[in-house]
Amino acid sequence: MSKRVAVLGGGIVGVCAALEAQKAGFEVVLIDRKKPGRETSFGNAGVLSESSVVVLNNPGLIKTLPKLLMNNGIGFRYSPWFVLKNLGWFLKFLSYCTPRKSRHAAKALRALMVISLERHKALIKEAKVDELLRYQGWLKIFRKTESFERFKAEMKIMDDAGVRYSVYDQSQIRQLEPGLEPIYKHAVLVDDTCGVNNPAKLTDAYVDLFLTAGGVVIEDSVIGLDHGTQPWVVRLQSGNDVIADQVVLAAGAWSAEIASWLGYRIPMLWERGYHRHLEPAKAPALKRAIHDIDGGYVMAPMQTGVRITTGVEMRDRDAEMNFSQLDAAIEDARSHHGFGEPVDAEPWMGRRPTLVDSLPMLGSAPRHEGLFFNFGHQHIGLSMAPGSGQVMAALLQGQTPPIDIAPFNPSRFPI
Ligand SMILES: Cc1cc2nc3c(=O)[nH]c(=O)nc-3n(C[C@H](O)[C@H](O)[C@H](O)COP(=O)(O)OP(=O)(O)OC[C@H]3O[C@@H](n4cnc5c(N)ncnc54)[C@H](O)[C@@H]3O)c2cc1C
Repeated sequence: MSKRVAVLGGGIVGVCAALEAQKAGFEVVLIDRKKPGRETSFGNAGVLSESSVVVLNNPGLIKTLPKLLMNNGIGFRYSPWFVLKNLGWFLKFLSYCTPRKSRHAAKALRALMVISLERHKALIKEAKVDELLRYQGWLKIFRKTESFERFKAEMKIMDDAGVRYSVYDQSQIRQLEPGLEPIYKHAVLVDDTCGVNNPAKLTDAYVDLFLTAGGVVIEDSVIGLDHGTQPWVVRLQSGNDVIADQVVLAAGAWSAEIASWLGYRIPMLWERGYHRHLEPAKAPALKRAIHDIDGGYVMAPMQTGVRITTGVEMRDRDAEMNFSQLDAAIEDARSHHGFGEPVDAEPWMGRRPTLVDSLPMLGSAPRHEGLFFNFGHQHIGLSMAPGSGQVMAALLQGQTPPIDIAPFNPSRFPI
C-alpha cells in the first residue's frame, strides 16, 4: 500500500477525506491556502441531510424557468453575461431535467447521504462535540397551497428513495415552531435529517481529530501538480513541494481549475450563496433549519444567531458580492418573524461546486494513476462529506467502496 497521501483542499470534503485516509493507515498531509473550513464549508445552513435527493435540475425546473429568467426572485439570480459565456454548461444542465435522470440522481445521492449521516454522528461523538448536533429534522414550509401541491412531485421522488417525512397543516406548524408567524399553510418535516449549529466548529473539531492522530495541515496555495513516474509533487506558493504517493483533489469550486492543469475539462460551475446572522426574535427560538419555499431562503438557528441563507446566484466565481438577494431575504424574514438587527458586520458568500448532472465526481482520475477526484457536492457537501471520505479511503487502499460509486465515476463525462 502507498503510504503518503496529499489532500488538496481543506473544506469539509477534504477534511473528511484526510481523516478517513488517516484512519485507513495512511500518512496524510492536508493542504489549504487558508485555515481549513473557511470557504463554502464555513457558512452553510448546517443541515446534515439524508433527504435532499431531488436535484435542482429536475423536471419541475423547466416549468419554473420562465419565472426564474425574470431574474428578480430571492431564490435565484444570475448574471446574463455569465450565462452566455457558459451557455453550453447551462444547456447540458437543463438536459438532465427528465424523470429518469432525476430518479437516477436521487438513488445515488441517497446512498451517499445515508452513510454520511451515520459517519457524521460517529465522528461528532469521537470529537466530543455533541453540543453541535441536533436531531429535530429539516422543515420545509409553504405559504401557498399551489407551492405545496407542486412539491408533491418531489415528495414522490423522496418516497421512492425511502426518505421519511411527515406532513403538517397550519395549526400543527404553530406547535412545531411556535417562533414562526402563522403565515404558512403547509409543512413537510423530514424526520431523520439532522443539523449542526456551527458548521465551522464542526470542521475545526474534525481537523483537531486529524491533528491529534498525527495528521499534518499545511496552510499554503497549491500552484502546481506534477506527475512523472511516481510519486506526485504538489507545488506550493511558498516554494515548498509536498511529495506524495497518492493525491485527493477536494478543492470545491476550485477543483476544475486545478484538474485543468493536468488536461482535464470538468463540466463544473459554482452556485454562489450568501448568509448573514440576525438577532433572534423575542418569540420562542427556532428549533431546526427551516426552508421557506415561497420566501426562497433558509432560516437556520446557529450559535451566533439566526442564519439567513440564500438560494442560488450564478455569476463569475470571483466577481464582487451582490447583496440584493440576501437583503431581500433578510427584509422578508425580519418583517414576518420579528428577527433583530444583523449580528455580523459583513455578509458572507460561498460557492457550491456543481457538475452538469448535479452528482459529485468521486473516483480515479482517468489518465493519472494515484490521483482521485472528490468534488462537486453542490448544495449538500456538508451532508455528503464523510461518506465521500470513506469512498476515498477505500479507493486509496484499492478496496471496494461502501456504496456503488458508478454514478459518481469521473469517466461518465468525456473529460
Ligand atoms: C448558502 C449555502 C448554504 C448551504 N447549506 C448547506 C447545508 O445546509 N447542508 C449541506 O450539506 N450543504 C450545504 N451547502 C453546501 C456546502 O456548503 C458545500 O457543498 C460544501 O461546503 C463544499 O465543500 P468543499 O470542501 O467541497 O468546498 P469548500 O468548503 O469551498 O472547500 C474548498 C477548499 O479548497 C481550498 N482551495 C481551493 N483552491 C486551493 C488552492 N489552489 N490551494 C489550496 N487550497 C485551495 C479553499 O481554500 C477551500 O477551503 C450550502 C452552501 C451554501 C453556499
